[in-house]
Amino acid sequence: MAATYREEAARLQALHDLRVLDSPASEAIDRITRMAAWSFAAPVALVTLVDAQRQRFKSRLGVTVDEIPREHSFCTHAICSDDVMVVPDASRDPRFATNPLVVGDPEIRFYAGAPLILRDNIRLGTLCVIDRVPRPFTAEDRRMLADLAALVVVELEKQAAEMREADAAARPHRYEFESFLECEARTRPGEAALAVIADMSTPGQLRSLFAELGPAWSEAVALHASQTIAESLGARVSLHRVGYLCFGFLLDDGDETPTRALLAALAERLREPFECEGIPFLLAPAIGAVSLRLGEDAAANVLRRAFAAAQEARARHAALAWHGAGMRWSESEARGLVLLRELRRALEKGEGLSLDLQPRIDLATGECVAAEMLLRWRHARLGPIPPGDFIALAERTALARPLTDWVINAALAASARLAASGLPLRLSINVSAVNLDEPDLIDRLAAALHRYGVPPQRLELEFTESALADNAPQALARIEQARALGVTIAIDDFGTGYSNLTYLQRIPAGILKIDQSFVRSLPSSSRDRVLVRTMIGMAHELGYRVVVEGVESDEIRGLAAAWGADEAQGYGIARPMSQAAFETWFRCQRHCAVVPAAAPPVRAAAAVAE
Ligand code: C2E
Ligand code: MG
Ligand code: MG
Repeated sequence: MAATYREEAARLQALHDLRVLDSPASEAIDRITRMAAWSFAAPVALVTLVDAQRQRFKSRLGVTVDEIPREHSFCTHAICSDDVMVVPDASRDPRFATNPLVVGDPEIRFYAGAPLILRDNIRLGTLCVIDRVPRPFTAEDRRMLADLAALVVVELEKQAAEMREADAAARPHRYEFESFLECEARTRPGEAALAVIADMSTPGQLRSLFAELGPAWSEAVALHASQTIAESLGARVSLHRVGYLCFGFLLDDGDETPTRALLAALAERLREPFECEGIPFLLAPAIGAVSLRLGEDAAANVLRRAFAAAQEARARHAALAWHGAGMRWSESEARGLVLLRELRRALEKGEGLSLDLQPRIDLATGECVAAEMLLRWRHARLGPIPPGDFIALAERTALARPLTDWVINAALAASARLAASGLPLRLSINVSAVNLDEPDLIDRLAAALHRYGVPPQRLELEFTESALADNAPQALARIEQARALGVTIAIDDFGTGYSNLTYLQRIPAGILKIDQSFVRSLPSSSRDRVLVRTMIGMAHELGYRVVVEGVESDEIRGLAAAWGADEAQGYGIARPMSQAAFETWFRCQRHCAVVPAAAPPVRAAAAVAE
């Protein structure tokens, strides 16, 4: 009985996935081969793997060649049987009587082969013993050969797992994850699963990692990441390295909540600081998960969606982005297209866009010393659209430039208006990483400052930490130009991205804004308390003025003040508000002197030193 086409394809795939054809010789398998030869007093014992054209010897005793053509192979027949195949005298067996290995020299007369059967009934090859004279083989002999073959399978699987582990720490293997997904789809079609991509760093961080600390150190970081993931997920999940600091794996998706909790816990563990060869380090994980039914979608497509989800998590500064089975990727793409088309129109006509202001107070005096301008978009038909939904999208298109231009102009117009009504405050705007690629960015900024008659000292540009880490030397030069103009530079969302501070010191920033994700949880997380206090101390040592974002309560404000932070921003002080509301709030703070219970009074500064 010949193997069916499906069986043949499944075996070839398994040989490829387990990578047994290329794996080094194994002493453990050689020992089983020796034991087989010795137990049956056979001059030849082999562990064979039946490849498409050739039969390869994974382990051999009594022969000197490493492979033979498939058409001469006895094992091709043996793998079709569940049982041990015994040929007591090949010269009398019509299947083999004319085989060159039977009529030639050295001749095969006796053959007994036990198939190497994997868990999913895929047969890779055999453990076989061969003799040059005919001989009997008892039922007891068969059982023993089958047991030894089972031991070989265990060793092969163990070796494959070890290679995969070593691989996860050695080099990226995207195609391996793809063929793993294909194999899973073949063995358990229709089962609910979750394909996950866990990306540990932005491309810019990776570049700096290589440039500043070298590949050996980067490898040590990769090893730490792979071990942390493997420990968090348990031994049953096979981990694939799909990028330099990027890993892929497949989870069962029976019940969504535990899987979500598992991934959230993984993200949490990956964000813990660790030491690598004496240097403290933080990863910046972004995890993308895609629910699927195995086999419904091509593996390459599943991977693409999981990568896109990870990218989305990173763009949203979230640890995890999840795409449910019901959500077709094309739906989100379609929404993206609609938003981009509408945003373009909004920017051209200035419709529906506005800037809200969120106050920043000096923690020592309680005075409002600055305000962050946050973009708002209210679409006539779609309603309010959160910045997280459209800003990252715009950044991937040519709309990033007009969007930032709109913000610069609107912010400076507001600044001039506030100054005219007696509030010459410093205002900060958020600038995208991609804007740093525009050679004329600073010229446009200087022209706008001139146009609105706003002194550069009253403007602050916020760049996220990852935007700065991702950018090339010319971006640094652009930031230097802005500073030379007199504009203040702030590093936004500090703590969520890169952690090696050597690069930060090269950026001429005066302000460091500690990300709200650490701050909001201060009352409940002792870990975040240690982190924030350390960040404040470290930032001061490097000469930054520190702004703590996400101050939602008096308790947090009190902690930030006690640790010496300079400014605070957050819902506990005031939510972002329209410009008219901000003016009222500001004047009320100045005149009403409402004193919160556990914090210094909020008083408005009469003016900001320029
Ligand atoms: P960001 O620059 O870190 O801005 C702070 C965000 O945190 C704002 O969200 C603000 O509303 C929110 N926030 C402030 N205090 C608290 C608090 O105590 N608790 C909580 N939970 N949240 C607080 P928003 O307005 O949704 O903006 C999100 C992000 O969108 C901003 O983060 C910024 O990265 C981006 N963004 C906003 N406006 C612009 C813009 O004009 N241009 C660019 N490129 N990005 C912008
Ligand atoms: Mg900001
Ligand atoms: Mg921020």
